[in-house]
Amino acid sequence: MMRIQWFAEMLSERGIQLSERQNEQFHIYFKLLVEWNEKMNLTGITEEEAVYEKHFYDSLSLTFFKDFNQVKSIADIGSGAGFPSLPIKIAFPHLKVTIVDSLNKRILFLKHVVEQLGLTEVSCIHGRAEDVARQADHRDKYDLVTARAVARLASLNELCLPFTKKGGYFASMKGASPQDEVDESVKSLKELRGQVEAVFNMALPFEQSERHIVMIKKLEPTPKKYPRKAGTPIKEPIV
Ligand code: SAM
Repeated sequence: MMRIQWFAEMLSERGIQLSERQNEQFHIYFKLLVEWNEKMNLTGITEEEAVYEKHFYDSLSLTFFKDFNQVKSIADIGSGAGFPSLPIKIAFPHLKVTIVDSLNKRILFLKHVVEQLGLTEVSCIHGRAEDVARQADHRDKYDLVTARAVARLASLNELCLPFTKKGGYFASMKGASPQDEVDESVKSLKELRGQVEAVFNMALPFEQSERHIVMIKKLEPTPKKYPRKAGTPIKEPIV
């Protein structure tokens, strides 16, 4: 079932060959997103082509800049309706995925999607990142941590770097101009033991709006005092 031809073709140009089953999984995901969106607020984007471009393709753009065949585990902080982690999991089924979101309604949606798509090794956790990152199972554990549209980078460093293992990466997915956020995050990077390694950019294929991915390397384990208590990283960012 391939409804959106350009999607599979453009991914194929990037070296990602989707099987019929994977194309079907994207289609079911789209249908569930629109269906559940009528009952709860998941996304402002519901037109099929737009969902494929602004949610699915945008989420997968991270995989254009990092070799996901070398990545084993990812954590997606503030995943909302599953972005970017679920499109990445569909395209790279070997991944072990942990999703953390503080809104239980969204977690219930995500668990339903995971079940309907038949995805394995996806764990959807209801909780604040600040609390979950204190648990030994999740602290300094993940090869790659992602966050899209959750907070400014100075706050995200404190929410996401505690999940990232030493030598792993936090990929912050940003819009048109992240430079001011990068400039603002010098102190939080130092405190959370992160270092900006690269800033990648790309444009969405049709809408053409610009996107950036700030790739941050975790240099050392997380100092004991971080993250601070839930709510503080966003209310009082380390700047
Ligand atoms: N990443 C998704 C996307 O790109 O479409 C969702 C973005 S949505 C604007 C932000 C999400 O982050 C919400 O689902 C919210 O519940 C979650 N969130 C905000 N603060 C959080 C925290 N401290 N811990 C976990 N989730 C959080």
